[in-house]
Amino acid sequence: MGLHQGKKILVTGGCGFIGSYLVERLISEGNEVVVIDDLSTGIKTNIEHLLNNKYFQFINDTIFNYRKMEEVLQGCDEIYHLAASVGVKYVVEHPVESIRINIRGTEIVLELANRYHKKIFIVSSSEVYGKNMKRILNEDDDSLLGGPKVLRWNYGHAKAIDEFLALAYHMEKGLEVVVGRLFNTCGPRQVGTYGMVIPRFIEQALKGDPIMVYGNGKQVRAFCHVSDTIEGILRLMNHPKAVGDVFNIGNPEGITIFKLAKKIREMTNSKSKIILVPYKKVFSQNFEDIRYRVPDIRKIGKLTGYSPRVTLDQLLEQTIAWFKEELKKVKEGV
Ligand code: UDP
Repeated sequence: MGLHQGKKILVTGGCGFIGSYLVERLISEGNEVVVIDDLSTGIKTNIEHLLNNKYFQFINDTIFNYRKMEEVLQGCDEIYHLAASVGVKYVVEHPVESIRINIRGTEIVLELANRYHKKIFIVSSSEVYGKNMKRILNEDDDSLLGGPKVLRWNYGHAKAIDEFLALAYHMEKGLEVVVGRLFNTCGPRQVGTYGMVIPRFIEQALKGDPIMVYGNGKQVRAFCHVSDTIEGILRLMNHPKAVGDVFNIGNPEGITIFKLAKKIREMTNSKSKIILVPYKKVFSQNFEDIRYRVPDIRKIGKLTGYSPRVTLDQLLEQTIAWFKEELKKVKEGV
């Protein structure tokens, strides 16, 4: 038996949809991974298959537990910080918790990373661009975020502060930090509970329920397969010139939400009706949607050679197949 050559890596929020794929990949590359997750929106089934792996450790705790975080982080070589509130629906329904985890949670993680000199990847979000109407969003574009009466903007403001704090630690204290702005990330294992459109449409289509398109359906999104998102994160974290900088990570293949609904209905051979639902019928508070959200990925591409591989059709095929299996399990009572 040879010596274990990999790093020991802390992943906060490792039981979430994206986190669980990151953990799998890090372990498959010979690293040892410690996950801290309070299972608030992550689910243990995402990492169940890893629980017996000797290179995996799961700590069921919150990142607000400063002592625990300090103890775990000290023993690791580097950190991927994914713990955050997730999904527009969740953010609007739990604004206090959402702001608390994105602000205080990230502050704790950055403070400790700095104290113990650990390189850290901060997962930020395309939500920081807000209502910027540019058709393709570039890292240097302005954040155009609405005010506090429209609850969804809490997420963009909080993630923007996370970015400021991360870069401030880098500039002022020399902390090695990389910031990735994730655009819509999808794939098998993502659930619709927190509002994400692809799992919701697939479930509605497979059950023959109406496919609920919010607003006029002309809003544009670009969906990235989770494996491509992970590839982007890892390439950046492992590139020395990414330190102290901010990068978009996503797939620039844009589509309107109405077209997405039609595509999913077709691919599932569903007879579901597609209906347009006004935002005010879905969200009790004032709500504003984002019209265009497509990433410019030239910066990450130029530095690391990143280019997403999975097309939207492949992403949907895989996710539909996964949902069929899940629904079968529910039916069989497994
Ligand atoms: N959306 C929809 N029906 C749903 C869920 C979402 O039409 O059941 C729309 C939503 O209004 C938005 C787009 O799909 O325009 C993407 O929504 P999601 O919450 O997945 O991501 P985000 O808004 O953060 O890009």
